[in-house]
Amino acid sequence: MEESLQTQVLIVGAGPSGLMTAWRLAEAGIPCVVIEKQSAVGAHLNCAGGVDESVLDFVGMGRGGYIKQHVDTFRIYYNDESYRRRYRNWKGIVVSRTEFDRALALRAEEAGVKIMLQTRLDGLQRDEDGDFIAQVTSVFGLKTIHSRLVVGADGPKTKVGTCLGMAPRLRPDQYIVFATMDLGGLQLEETEAWHFLFRDELPNSYTWVFPHGKHAANYGVGMLPGQHHGNWLKDLLRADPLLHKILGTTTPEVRRRGGGIVPLCGPRPLDEIVTDGALLVGDAAGMIEPIFGEGIFPAVLSGAAAAETIVDALSRGKTDKATLAVYDRRWRAMPYTDGWTLEEYLNWMLSQYKPFYRLFTRKTWRWKRRWMIRRFFSD
Ligand SMILES: Cc1cc2nc3c(=O)[nH]c(=O)nc-3n(C[C@H](O)[C@H](O)[C@H](O)COP(=O)(O)OP(=O)(O)OC[C@H]3O[C@@H](n4cnc5c(N)ncnc54)[C@H](O)[C@@H]3O)c2cc1C
Repeated sequence: MEESLQTQVLIVGAGPSGLMTAWRLAEAGIPCVVIEKQSAVGAHLNCAGGVDESVLDFVGMGRGGYIKQHVDTFRIYYNDESYRRRYRNWKGIVVSRTEFDRALALRAEEAGVKIMLQTRLDGLQRDEDGDFIAQVTSVFGLKTIHSRLVVGADGPKTKVGTCLGMAPRLRPDQYIVFATMDLGGLQLEETEAWHFLFRDELPNSYTWVFPHGKHAANYGVGMLPGQHHGNWLKDLLRADPLLHKILGTTTPEVRRRGGGIVPLCGPRPLDEIVTDGALLVGDAAGMIEPIFGEGIFPAVLSGAAAAETIVDALSRGKTDKATLAVYDRRWRAMPYTDGWTLEEYLNWMLSQYKPFYRLFTRKTWRWKRRWMIRRFFSD
């Protein structure tokens, strides 16, 4: 392969945000290349895969084998209290993220997207016309990619955002840390529910169990940084009676461990997610719901909004910041679940972040907790 490649739009990162952007661009006939540093789409992924089912209708994907569980209930546990909220109109799913991302990649490739694996972005420069020269390390021997536009879909530590001065290093109050395990050998009592456990002795954090059928689940913990709860996941799994009751066993089989960080909204989404010739999408733009870290849906919505913006900009022959700024309005107006726009939803969740965590302290009356939980999870 040549050392240099030319394309109209370079998309960095083959997660849901990058693949969605690429797929929509390809459908509009715009040549684009996606680069991904991993050896396969969905490799080394750490995601619990819980998402609103309507994401599939938005993306335009059928109900494929990547769905591991249908869900219509939230189960919230606090110490020895248990609350159950069941929905008639809302449907959640648990997907295998690897399989979901691969299904998305397949559709993007069928539409004409070129995905280059084992190709990592190392740096970005501009030529004299303001177009981009991306420096990459690639198994194909590729060294540079020239493009008119760049989309940063490269996750919370975005290299694109950093190179272009759009994404300052996250402060500890701007992310939560997730540690997770895939479990097998279970006898789950209640499969059609997302389970969230809160405890006084583990403040500013929660544990989740997302069933994959009756015998397997994703299990994890989300915590504010600096909590030093390193062994929680293991300790709870070994000795927690409530967790054992949910899992239906005291000896689950640990199939995989992982973890990662989840950027919180506030003050993200970043002040700047657009600059001359470049946009950030998904986690790179900090578009993630701040209580449970739901980022798959915002990722595909922002990808679609970015693609629409690029199609318009290229049809007008202008890719400067002022022209691309419409992206900011577009992602905000994207339809989220239940009649909410993405902006309304993220803002509401952001405003509820502190009150929500305050619910799970001894200072909160039980009746108030019950009332608030109903309010949080109402239709
Ligand atoms: C443990 C954990 C559990 C989670 N659970 C849920 C959940 O249940 N539900 C939910 O909705 N969300 C969940 N999230 C959040 C969700 O995973 C993200 O919001 C989502 O993946 C964002 O998609 P994205 O495409 O923006 O970024 P990503 O999926 O992170 O994709 C970014 C891609 O860019 C690639 N990349 C990075 N740097 C470079 C580079 N320099 N060159 C080339 N490629 C690069 C990466 O390899 C990666 O493939 C979870 C996150 C974690 C960490």
